[in-house]
Amino acid sequence: MVWETPYFSYAVRELPKGCQLCVRGEKLVLFTTGKCPRDCFYCPLSETRRGDVVYANERPVKSLDDIIEEALLMEARGAGVTGGDPLARLDRTVEYIRLLKEAFGESFHVHLYTTGALATKKNLEKLYDAGLDEIRFHPDLFNPNSRLFKVEIENIRNAFDFDWDVGGEIPSIPGQFERMRRYADFLDNLGAKFLNVNELEFSETNLRAILDRGYRPISDESAAIKGSLELGLRLLEWGEENTSLSYHLCTAKLKDAVQLKNRLRRMARNVAKPYMEITEDGTLRFGIAEYDDLDELYTLLVEEAEVPAEWLYLNREKGRIEMPEEVAVELAEAIEGDVRFFIVEEYPTFDRLEVERIPLP
Ligand code: SF4
Repeated sequence: MVWETPYFSYAVRELPKGCQLCVRGEKLVLFTTGKCPRDCFYCPLSETRRGDVVYANERPVKSLDDIIEEALLMEARGAGVTGGDPLARLDRTVEYIRLLKEAFGESFHVHLYTTGALATKKNLEKLYDAGLDEIRFHPDLFNPNSRLFKVEIENIRNAFDFDWDVGGEIPSIPGQFERMRRYADFLDNLGAKFLNVNELEFSETNLRAILDRGYRPISDESAAIKGSLELGLRLLEWGEENTSLSYHLCTAKLKDAVQLKNRLRRMARNVAKPYMEITEDGTLRFGIAEYDDLDELYTLLVEEAEVPAEWLYLNREKGRIEMPEEVAVELAEAIEGDVRFFIVEEYPTFDRLEVERIPLP
């Protein structure tokens, strides 16, 4: 039976362990390089992520401490290692997996995505020895005559020499049912555990290539591609009857409405300052005041408006004074002149993305 999960996604049998933790927002997303031996037309990577860069969630990684700090802030119970192809920088990837296992223990679940192009027995052995728990292969199904595809498919066989969970991870591309079905069959015959299927989505960088191939979004408000979800469901129905793999159809809605929100909420608990309110969506809401001379404004607020100093935070980096929302509302009414007051909402992430700004009064 294909069942609908509580996370707006669909599954056959049980969710892969990596997905179980991911939907609850408990996985650190560890991006070990943007380098990749492939050039998929649907590649969602942004321009900034296409180089040899490393991120732990939204945090650029300059040292090993950045990874540990980010994992602690979100109270991670595992990590998903991604890229690019993490095997394109194998030593770095192995070092990070080892670091996480040593810092957080054996039960810290680590899964990794790879094209398979570089998954030689020797390379897989290094990942296995570092403690990797689950490996997901994304071969170039849509270029089945390429030399790379043949190498990838041969390499997937190597993964079955190790005692970890092996599965596949592919996008659901309308018109490609036969190739997806054959891949599911191939994995099943090898004794793999699961196949994860992603609803195809537009991103800033793949938009042109996807439109050029005739695909369209399901609506003006959505980045999901028409027909991708239906095709994924068809594959799950077929797979349930014809294979013994587990399947998970991961939807665009799951990523936006559930996984991200859950991760933000976990992070917000550890990041929020006393004057910030944590919203239902896991964002931080508070008041701010902006003025050309911040020191002058600070003195005015403390000495003339008599706001207790512990309610104020002078954020020089962002050029503003932060405070509880109610204080900003009161001050906006009481203070005349060039001081600008706003209520803002930000992600609790390292980049502190601002998602809302309401001018006061
Ligand atoms: S394998 Fe993944 S990272 Fe590499 S080009 Fe394709 S979609 Fe992008």
